[in-house]
Amino acid sequence: MDLVSALRLAVIALGVMIGLYVVFLIISGWRTNKPSPPPPLAKAVPCTGTRNGKPCGKPVFRCANCGDSGCQLNGCDRRRFEPPGKCLSCGYPNTMQRV
Ligand SMILES: [Zn+2]
Ligand SMILES: [Zn+2]
Repeated sequence: MDLVSALRLAVIALGVMIGLYVVFLIISGWRTNKPSPPPPLAKAVPCTGTRNGKPCGKPVFRCANCGDSGCQLNGCDRRRFEPPGKCLSCGYPNTMQRV
């Protein structure tokens, strides 16, 4: 084996190693840098009320004081809260909790 072919072999080997290293970096980076999905929020219970003649479907809230649950939107027939979270059943303010 002469010097030129040995050198060529060394260059090819180096190229293969760099290629493998790049592939390894891509795979490991892809694995570690992948943003972990946020913990799934408790799925909000949709409001079954009617608002302006249409199904409401907005999240339902529950009163921490009396346990009554309902919508907070004006015009919804299942409205139980008024801004900023006052319960219309028991009258306590800020008792609105996400169901
Ligand atoms: Zn209440
Ligand atoms: Zn509603």
